[in-house]
Amino acid sequence: MTLTADVEAAFAADGLLSRAASHFVARSGQTEMAIAVARAIENAEALVVEASTGVGKTFSYLVPALLSGERVLVSTATKALQDQLFGRDLPRLVEALGVPVRTALLKGRASYVCLHRVGIARQDSSILDRSALRALAKIEQWAQTTHAGDLAEMPGLDERSPLIPLITSTRENCLGSQCPQFRSCHVNLARREALAADVVVINHHLFFADLAVRESGMAELLPTVRVVIFDEAHQLNETGVQFLGQHLSTGQLLDFCRDLLGAGLQFARGLVDWQQTVGDCERAARDLRLCADQSYRGTKLRWTGNTPETLDSDSWGVSLDALASALLRTGAALDTVSEIAPDFVRLKERADLLAARAAHFMEPCAPDCVRWVDVGTQLRLTQSPLTIAEAVKTRLLGTSADSTKSWIFTSATLGDDEALSWFTQPCGLEGARLLKVGSPFDYAQQAALYVPQDFPKPSDPAHPARVSQSVGVWARQLGGRTMVLTTTLKALRLIGDALQADFEATGELAVLVQGSMPKRRLIERFLQGNAEGHQGCVMVASSSFWEGIDLPGEALQLVIIDKLPFPPPNDPMAEARAKALEAVGRSAFNDYFLPEAAVALKQGAGRLIRRETDQGVLVVCDNRLATMGYGKRLLRALPPMRRLGNEEDLLNQLKAINATAK
Ligand code: SF4
Repeated sequence: MTLTADVEAAFAADGLLSRAASHFVARSGQTEMAIAVARAIENAEALVVEASTGVGKTFSYLVPALLSGERVLVSTATKALQDQLFGRDLPRLVEALGVPVRTALLKGRASYVCLHRVGIARQDSSILDRSALRALAKIEQWAQTTHAGDLAEMPGLDERSPLIPLITSTRENCLGSQCPQFRSCHVNLARREALAADVVVINHHLFFADLAVRESGMAELLPTVRVVIFDEAHQLNETGVQFLGQHLSTGQLLDFCRDLLGAGLQFARGLVDWQQTVGDCERAARDLRLCADQSYRGTKLRWTGNTPETLDSDSWGVSLDALASALLRTGAALDTVSEIAPDFVRLKERADLLAARAAHFMEPCAPDCVRWVDVGTQLRLTQSPLTIAEAVKTRLLGTSADSTKSWIFTSATLGDDEALSWFTQPCGLEGARLLKVGSPFDYAQQAALYVPQDFPKPSDPAHPARVSQSVGVWARQLGGRTMVLTTTLKALRLIGDALQADFEATGELAVLVQGSMPKRRLIERFLQGNAEGHQGCVMVASSSFWEGIDLPGEALQLVIIDKLPFPPPNDPMAEARAKALEAVGRSAFNDYFLPEAAVALKQGAGRLIRRETDQGVLVVCDNRLATMGYGKRLLRALPPMRRLGNEEDLLNQLKAINATAK
């Protein structure tokens, strides 16, 4: 039997899957995608599949991958999704299909405890306060017993803990085979297990980090796999450009200074004036930061000429030059002690790399790239390619070693046109086979869309107040179960504050604002609904909540989007992409801003209906959707929900949903 026939049989109503999993229901879209994936594996092709919400795409790619008997690499967007795939979906299917495959999970080195650095942090306890020392003691204890060393498995460890950089390694500070802990090192263990496995689950960050620097163990892994699957592929371009670019941050420099002082005092006290050497580098990093001390935190400074906009060009040039010189002097000092400990060899490499980056940013920006500076507590200098197309074409699909591989790219949202060009063009996949699988949901029955006509224009300062006022009314009608997705952090604050003030007195609904607690806790609290004396919850969120949030059933039945999610026009990356299109005679609005808005809108709307039995309403508080010519294109990108004509219809619909709630 061919793989395609095996897959078809597995998905049949009386096939392997239905016999092994009682809740399995054969769905035509799921089978169609699985067969397409099987064919792509048989023919060593590149396949792009947009599989709408509810198709069950994970089974559609895992089943053919597992039945193929090939070595498979599966990459997804986040560590949480990796854990879900590896801990839940993969073992279930391996058991259901009865295939003898070995699976492994591989994350970036920052996910694993570094035994060597835990030892250094303990000895250099001067850098830690009492509570940090207690937390460090717990980590040390856990590090003795853990098998995987994956920090996600350590109970009670906050992923934002300032201890994490001290107890994990980076490519720069890892001692590799020179490390006294090399044999028991968790990073190496995870890599060895990945190399021995048939199916390895990684994430896009790891994939691109490795493509950029060939460090994370994938350099050996990638040539040995025959099937590469990217789930949540809509994130590939944005993740890829982050890693294929160049960065230098003052935070990175201060981390280097801290490691330098720690190693210097521990292994070679008195041989070099460490305080002076570290002081020079720290001063140079701080002087660079000071160049932007007049700029607001959170801004991005365009950098199209020699100097980032608004900064003094003389001070900028002098600071970068001083930084490069201080780093070179540090490298020379480290050379004199390199025999004493392997830490100094790595520190010397870091000093040279940082000096080279500082020198790089003194040169003009490369063509087809964009530069900018992020201003925060630290300063971050970035030069990034505009897309990953070139890298995908030349370093993945184009290499002769990779011509026998199958490449599968899938996501629920990959564009708003037939060619899925929003995804395929920046990813260099115009030649790939395409498949679009529609959702099994009956949107006309399950969901409704309302676009209020009497709201102020989205650019009007009164717009957020009007949104919050209406959200209060609508959410009361539904008893919570409402999520507001904002396009900007400013709107998040304004709408969040106004709703908190509105509900403070009565306590009727709990208002949960993104940033007020860790994302996971925020979602857990939202799912609890009518707890702590409240009748329900309203969540106000931005950015990362527009996608990847799965709140099925009655947990979420009203999604409100404040404005059409166009990319900010003054963002350096958006500006550079728009210019690049105009330079070849294309329309930046039609070919960039509009598709970006369509995809983001589709993702935001996708939070609403997650199962065949879900009911809900989407409100978009931006009447450009109804009044502007381009609104039609955006409406076509949304699932085919029925339209509500006025607010009375909306309130009746919410009342009806509330009445059927359990
Ligand atoms: S080899 Fe690198 S990651 Fe592993 S324990 Fe040593 S320094 Fe840490």
